[in-house]
Amino acid sequence: MVYYLSSNEKKRLFKGYLNKARRDPVSDMWRGWSWDRPPVEPPYDDITLSIYEVAGQYCESGRDVYLRRVEGIRRPPNPRMLRGYVLHRVVEEVVTRAKVIVYSEGRVPGQFLIERLMEDSKNVINKILDPLDLSKESKEQLKRRALSLWRFEAWQIAASLDRVSSSHREMGLDALVNIAIPFVVEHKLDGSFLGLSGELRVDAISMGVVLDLKTGQKYPFQELYTTGYALVLEALNEIPYDVGCLVTLDFTPQESPIIKRWFHLIDEPLRQQFIEERDEKMRIVAEQEDPGVSKSCPPDCPYSDVCGV
Ligand code: SF4
Repeated sequence: MVYYLSSNEKKRLFKGYLNKARRDPVSDMWRGWSWDRPPVEPPYDDITLSIYEVAGQYCESGRDVYLRRVEGIRRPPNPRMLRGYVLHRVVEEVVTRAKVIVYSEGRVPGQFLIERLMEDSKNVINKILDPLDLSKESKEQLKRRALSLWRFEAWQIAASLDRVSSSHREMGLDALVNIAIPFVVEHKLDGSFLGLSGELRVDAISMGVVLDLKTGQKYPFQELYTTGYALVLEALNEIPYDVGCLVTLDFTPQESPIIKRWFHLIDEPLRQQFIEERDEKMRIVAEQEDPGVSKSCPPDCPYSDVCGV
């Protein structure tokens, strides 16, 4: 399962990251619950941005935000985005279906859970893939990867269910689900306290860690995504979120998933960087200021034709 932590990762999380966060706590000033005063307070009341628009640095100058928000130019997602969408949907479907099966069937053996989860896998994946504007070859490859990921997730969840079930025979169903599948996926969040969209979706939250699944190349700026979600969660729940985790997903030539988890502290410099990015992109929208073409643009940017690169 992309979000299950190994025992070594848990040790590193508790003894390393969380310990460090307790020893050197983030100032109240940089917590999401301080959204009613600067610097966290949004500088404009009437502009809301997505986390992607603030944290994404694929367009260094922020012209993508200007084109979308000021010029009103919309572009369909590129193949890289569509691949990410499909793999996120697979994880969401398997986790949600696994929970539904256990809640409706009770304390089932892992083997039963796997069989039930695999029954619908091809149909669901086809339904996700069919409407997407991708070439036949891309769809075929993505289908193989999605199925491989689905199977991998199903086995991991089933193994966890068996492990928890066998050592906690008296445990109630709700507690069993909570321990065997200890994450909430695609949690909808209202980011409006921070000048962000009311329709945000964080990939997963588990044990107070904010997890973000990345299906392409890993970039250092991606820690801004987990930072943004942590600030929103703090604004909504008034409890600290100090650790983020980027989960990278790739595939072997045989289409087996390769998963790596990259923990990081959601420290003051990251929070400050996120808030500064938010303020700058809000300013671009408010002042309708074209920031110009970036020095380097990703070759698959959906706005390449508009910017002439
Ligand atoms: S083509 Fe370059 S400047 Fe234009 S939106 Fe894309 S990344 Fe930004």
